[in-house]
Amino acid sequence: MNPKIWLSSPHMGEKEQAYVQEAFDTNWIAPLGPHVNGFEQDLKHFLGGDVEVAALSSGTAALHLALVILGVQAGDEVICQSMTFAASANPIVYQGATPIFVDSEELTWNMCPQFLELAICDRIRLGKKPKAIIVVHLYGMPAQMVEIMRIARHYDIPVIEDAAEALGSTYQGKQVGTFGDISIFSFNGNKIITTSGGGALVSANATYVNKARFLATQALDPAPHYQHSHIGYNYRMSNICAGIGRGQMEILPARVQSRRDNFSFYQRAFGDISEIQCGVEPSPDYHSNHWLTVVLIAGDRFTREDLRLALTADNIDSRPLWKPMHLQPVYEGAPYYGYDTAERLFKNGLCLPSGSNLTHEDLNRVVSRIYETVAMRQTFEDHTSKLIFE
Ligand SMILES: *Cc1c(COP(=O)(O)O)cnc(C)c1O
Repeated sequence: MNPKIWLSSPHMGEKEQAYVQEAFDTNWIAPLGPHVNGFEQDLKHFLGGDVEVAALSSGTAALHLALVILGVQAGDEVICQSMTFAASANPIVYQGATPIFVDSEELTWNMCPQFLELAICDRIRLGKKPKAIIVVHLYGMPAQMVEIMRIARHYDIPVIEDAAEALGSTYQGKQVGTFGDISIFSFNGNKIITTSGGGALVSANATYVNKARFLATQALDPAPHYQHSHIGYNYRMSNICAGIGRGQMEILPARVQSRRDNFSFYQRAFGDISEIQCGVEPSPDYHSNHWLTVVLIAGDRFTREDLRLALTADNIDSRPLWKPMHLQPVYEGAPYYGYDTAERLFKNGLCLPSGSNLTHEDLNRVVSRIYETVAMRQTFEDHTSKLIFE
């Protein structure tokens, strides 16, 4: 059996262990401490300085707090992109609110602005204005944020950017996670950088971020005894995890470059196969971190499953795209505005191994298995001109 090739595995730099050691040496083994503050500053600086950052225990926790801070309550409705990971939508239900799902569009595979507006108008017509909009930058590709923000402002509905997969991506030169009213990032083990597990809530509104820190640490009122006038949560990031994060922030630009190089490699490798289309940036406005390289299978010569099973047989991890939320058993019956774009992407899309720690040998192995499957059977040598990975 060939060695396992993962979809996206943690990739440590050189400094993470030293930061963690420092936490041990100074006994800051707690859900607060200098690394937590430092990691927040690193992120703030990376995002351009105009935002505040609260480091939290996960991206899911950050989304939950974003909804709490925006006042989402039982009985409310929240609009959410349908094609995404369940963690984008589940916190709506934690609040007792109802998700209203919206289809994707062809260019970015993220929330379709037209269906968003249709959903808003229809919910208002039915008597309930949505309390928030959750838009996701899937696989690192920025959503059409300018258009989405224009619509959201017009109807005066706050926007939460789920940028869990998109740290380092920009739209019109601006970092994703700086467009919405509140944004979230994830540092889970499979993301572009990791703290082993963690997340962050980001906003230009310092009151929101202070509230996030307050709610994330059990909502302790200022008093010498334990007094609470809010329901709190235990959602803060630990100082150990933040130490890993500080090391990872130092090499984030290199990680983005590696993932983009992976994408370019796959794009060149599949250039002659019209049935395999890579998810490209639609225009120079979009700069994706290409967290995962995603291909769409067109035509009927082979299916997404043919490729996935061939890769699995050689111990190579690949994954269908996120199954849309409106097709999930747990969200059966939830309102949905759209057509079949998300469904089609799910049916035909495959995420390929995309880690920044993949070797050229790994990447060549992935491509070779795919060449075999599409019965082109070209050898790596035949393609060396396209497979130069400088
Ligand atoms: C990973 C992810 C999350 C959840 O982040 P965690 O840190 O794992 O809780 C939310 N949304 C999207 C789109 C994700 O990919």
